[in-house]
Amino acid sequence: MGLVVTIDGPAASGKSSVSRELAQRLGWKWVSTGAFYRGLAYVAMNMNIDLEDVKALAELTHNPIWNIRLESDRTKVFFNQQDVTDDISHEDVGNFASKVSHFPEVRKALLEAQRNCAKGSENLVAEGRDCGTVVFPDASAKVFLTASSSHRAARRASELGLDHQDMMNAQKERDHQDSSRKVAPLSIPEEAFVVDSTELSLNEVVDRVEHFVRSKIQ
Ligand code: C5P
Repeated sequence: MGLVVTIDGPAASGKSSVSRELAQRLGWKWVSTGAFYRGLAYVAMNMNIDLEDVKALAELTHNPIWNIRLESDRTKVFFNQQDVTDDISHEDVGNFASKVSHFPEVRKALLEAQRNCAKGSENLVAEGRDCGTVVFPDASAKVFLTASSSHRAARRASELGLDHQDMMNAQKERDHQDSSRKVAPLSIPEEAFVVDSTELSLNEVVDRVEHFVRSKIQ
C-alpha cells in the first residue's frame, strides 16, 4: 500500500476539484468516494430497489452489474457496461446517495472496495466525508475543506445551471443528513488541516493543501 492523503468536507466545498488537482501535482491517483454512494443509489433506483431495503442495498454493493473505475480526471461509474458518471452528478442523486449512506450495513459493505483503491504501490488522494476518520484513519495527511453555504450553493448552481436558493436548500438538507447520521458522520478528523475556501481561488486552495501535504510526507 502506498501513501494516502484524505480530503473531507461538506457538499460542494471544492473537494473534487482540489483533490483532482492535488493528485495531478503529486503524480498520485485519485478517488472520489462519493461515487460509491452515488453509484449505489443510482443503480438501486434503476433496478427498482427500495432505498430503505438495507439488505438488498448491501447485496447490491457486490453486484458486478456496476463498478467503479479510477481515472485521473474523474472517478467513473459503470452500470451495465455503460458510463453513467454524468448521470450520477445531479444533486437529486447526491441526495439519494446521502439517504442510502446513513445505513451502517451499506457503509460497511462499501468500505473494503474504497480501501482497495489504496492497494498497490501507487499513492492515493481520497476525497469524501469519512476518508480521514473511517476509511483511511492512518493517512499520512488529512485535510478538511469548507466554505460558506452560500458560496458552495453558488458554485454548484452555476456548474449545473440551477437556481441558487434551491441549491442552497438541497445542500443544507444533505449536509444535515450527512452530519447527523449515527455512523461515520461528516466531521473534522483530528490533526486535519482545515481550509475555508470561501475567499480563495482554486489555485490558492491547492497551493495551501499541497504545501501542508508535502510537509507531512517528507
Ligand atoms: O461527495 P459527494 O457529493 O459525491 O457524495 C454524495 C453523498 O455520498 C454524500 O452526501 C454522502 O451522504 C455520501 N458520502 C459518504 N461518505 C463518503 C463520501 C460520500 O457518506 N466518504
